[in-house]
Amino acid sequence: MSNYFNDSLAYLDEALEFFKKLPDFDNFRQSLTTPNRLIEVNFPILLDNGRKILVKGFRSQFNNLLGPYKGGIRFHKNATAQEVTNLSFLMTIKNAVVNLPFGGGKGGVLVDPKKFSKTELERISRGYTEAIVDCIGPRIDVPAPDVNTNSVIMDWMTDEYIKLKIKKEKLKNNELLATFTGKSLNNGGVVGREEATGLGGAIILQGMLAKLKNKFQYKNEKPTVAIQGFGNVGYFLAKYLYLSGFKIVAVSDSKGAIYVSEGLNPDLTLQCKREKGELSGCYCVGSVCDLKKGRRITNSKMLSLPVDILVPAALENSINRDNVGEIDASIILEMANAPLSKEADKILSKRGVVIIPDILANSGGVTVSYFEWRQNLDNKTLTIDQVRRKIRQKLEEAVENVWQIKQKYRVNLRIASYILALERFKQK
Ligand code: NAD
Repeated sequence: MSNYFNDSLAYLDEALEFFKKLPDFDNFRQSLTTPNRLIEVNFPILLDNGRKILVKGFRSQFNNLLGPYKGGIRFHKNATAQEVTNLSFLMTIKNAVVNLPFGGGKGGVLVDPKKFSKTELERISRGYTEAIVDCIGPRIDVPAPDVNTNSVIMDWMTDEYIKLKIKKEKLKNNELLATFTGKSLNNGGVVGREEATGLGGAIILQGMLAKLKNKFQYKNEKPTVAIQGFGNVGYFLAKYLYLSGFKIVAVSDSKGAIYVSEGLNPDLTLQCKREKGELSGCYCVGSVCDLKKGRRITNSKMLSLPVDILVPAALENSINRDNVGEIDASIILEMANAPLSKEADKILSKRGVVIIPDILANSGGVTVSYFEWRQNLDNKTLTIDQVRRKIRQKLEEAVENVWQIKQKYRVNLRIASYILALERFKQK
């Protein structure tokens, strides 16, 4: 994880080269690389057996130049102060790239959720909220779900926050709701959040392909795609690319990968995976699944397929020094956070591979979270059509802005995204 932070700082420094002439350059750099605040809390929780334990949690508030801190809360037994700090830095940059009025934050609670009952998880969620209650709020810091947290947990946290604040704050109930995003639909959540990151990735990829139109040729008639990780992000990305005429030839999960040369149907594949409990055998083309249509391949073989577009949508650092030589795709769409090591990024860029960076590619999720925050503050409820129209507009604008900067500064898309973020910080 710390390499990942060093890599991000190195990219930032590359972009900062273009800002060296600023009179207050040193301050500018320092304000973007030094976290504003790290909150560490220890709070007691009553277990179902009557015992009490002390639980540790963190909230990193990295930077709020552009607006309230924004970023998820993860429940993980190995969460560390360093990890949440690193992730809150990335959130700071990502929110600036897409022009959201948010800074960057991230939280972590050191628990293994599998070891607790539902009632204990509720007490942990409420206990953490109480411990950080004065540090969050709709105009201060707006948390969201992350690894091992979901809308149920956000609803508990929101309820606890409102209970503690309703008499002290002058804010109305709908404004207090805006303290958290990723809530359930009955509790002020926004429709379309589940699909947002995958849909956003599809919008950004298509936007970039339109810009790159004359720069290279697809290996095949229809652009082919391989996706590492067939979870929430991978599935919705596959679905929307499939609907737009792309050929999804391979997908993988932690148990293995499948290759379907004719191109698979993501909906049927997901349905089949749910029924069988694994992807193997789910070779679904058109409207049927047929064992003869595809084959099982290893995860590493999948990464080396000669596709037009390779999408790491599972883990950080999945393309690195050891396997970068095998990559045979023309475009990489980074849907996971930091899926390429800096070394891999450098080698692939030199080979002319177009890398659409995480801070742009996977920003659809936080963009729709922003719509949730806004709809709560405005006391409105957006429809799915409104959300889909707004996310398209926002992300197409981001593609255009990154592209203009890429042309102006003659840099790759990652550095162009960092420069765009820096332009926005500079104006503050
Ligand atoms: P998820 O848990 O729903 O899915 C992850 C998928 O990756 C699962 O199918 C899992 O089996 C698979 N996987 C795990 N290890 C693998 C391996 N070694 N090889 C191949 N597949 C493997 O998670 P998600 O919400 O889809 O998130 C995926 C990535 O996108 C994460 O890095 C996450 O941080 C990032 N991300 C997610 C969102 C969001 O809104 N969900 C937003 C921004 C970034």
